[in-house]
Amino acid sequence: MDRRKFIAASAAAAAAAAVASCGRAGGLSGAAPFTCKAGSDKMKLRYYPYELQLAHTFTVSSFSRKTTPGVQLEIDYCGHTGYGEASMPPYLGHTVNSVCSFLEKVDLSGFDGPFEMEDIMEYLDTLSSGDSPAKAAIDIALHDLLGKLLGQPLYRIWGYNPKKEKYTSYTIGIDTPEVVREKTLECAGRFRVLKVKVGLDSDEQMIRTIREVTDFPLVVDANQGWKDPHKALEEIFWLKEQGVQLVEQPLPVDMIDETAWLTEFSPLPIIADEAVQRLGDVSRLKGVYSGINIKLMKSTGLLEARKMIAAARSNAMTVMLGCMTETSCACTAVAQLSPTADFCDIDGNLLITNDLFEGVKVVDGLLRLPSGPGLGLVKKS
Ligand code: MG
Repeated sequence: MDRRKFIAASAAAAAAAAVASCGRAGGLSGAAPFTCKAGSDKMKLRYYPYELQLAHTFTVSSFSRKTTPGVQLEIDYCGHTGYGEASMPPYLGHTVNSVCSFLEKVDLSGFDGPFEMEDIMEYLDTLSSGDSPAKAAIDIALHDLLGKLLGQPLYRIWGYNPKKEKYTSYTIGIDTPEVVREKTLECAGRFRVLKVKVGLDSDEQMIRTIREVTDFPLVVDANQGWKDPHKALEEIFWLKEQGVQLVEQPLPVDMIDETAWLTEFSPLPIIADEAVQRLGDVSRLKGVYSGINIKLMKSTGLLEARKMIAAARSNAMTVMLGCMTETSCACTAVAQLSPTADFCDIDGNLLITNDLFEGVKVVDGLLRLPSGPGLGLVKKS
């Protein structure tokens, strides 16, 4: 045997030994980790409207509301049920009708369960270019199913460490000083970071009122409410002195050059929220914003959210995870990504009074992920 043949033969023998050893140690039998009873191997979709009741009237720079329309969704497959949810804050233009009309068009019978998630999400994009909350509801339920079929929490399937618990901010909407003081006192014992909605003439008063009650770190969200970049920069310098850590969506989304200028000179990170929806937006925002706020109702769910995190990291951008007002279903879904994030603002389930699930918890201000398979949700009876 010449030297080349000897090396090739040795490598083949080593590879065969490695496979045999893996087979013994890992107990790989080739059997599926679950079995489908006859008739349960086709995914079945159900959904129903569910209006979310807010504990307090919620005011940001452009609107106020006391409820949020939503749609709850379930997918049955192989004896398991995956839970999903669409939440539609009115300013995004989606409604219960638009979500249900989209879902009526969806036929999952040709797919081999949640294992074909990439194909399913591609298929959903062929049905319409929008409808992100309806697509997110399906994506979340598919991920829940995937984990349940494999018997593991999603974060474990992805290799994320749940011990890397992240603080979540809690949102204080724009209100009178009395209400702001009351809300701040109410949540200051449970949270370590507060998110303050700004963007109206009352910004300084809001911050000063909160500072009378707590010295916790703050993040602010102007929801496009500031129009003058020079005034915005001045305000950001003042906010930094007040212990603010980042500024979300300071200027309208179409003020691209002005936002790039602001980001260049700002002493705080400038995060895109309304300006970023899906994966395709991330790379074009490099140099305009310091980071992105990913929400499942914008991204069409977890599959694309994970791609957005990868794209943001490859562009050296900060990753923030956010949510709409949602039940613990969608909030626990986005929280599965929290070990990888720089900032988390996952409090939508805490702003409502009619949550349907137990899921992610906030303990000493930190997000604690449930240990059950999939999303780890427990449906309230
Ligand atoms: Mg925002």
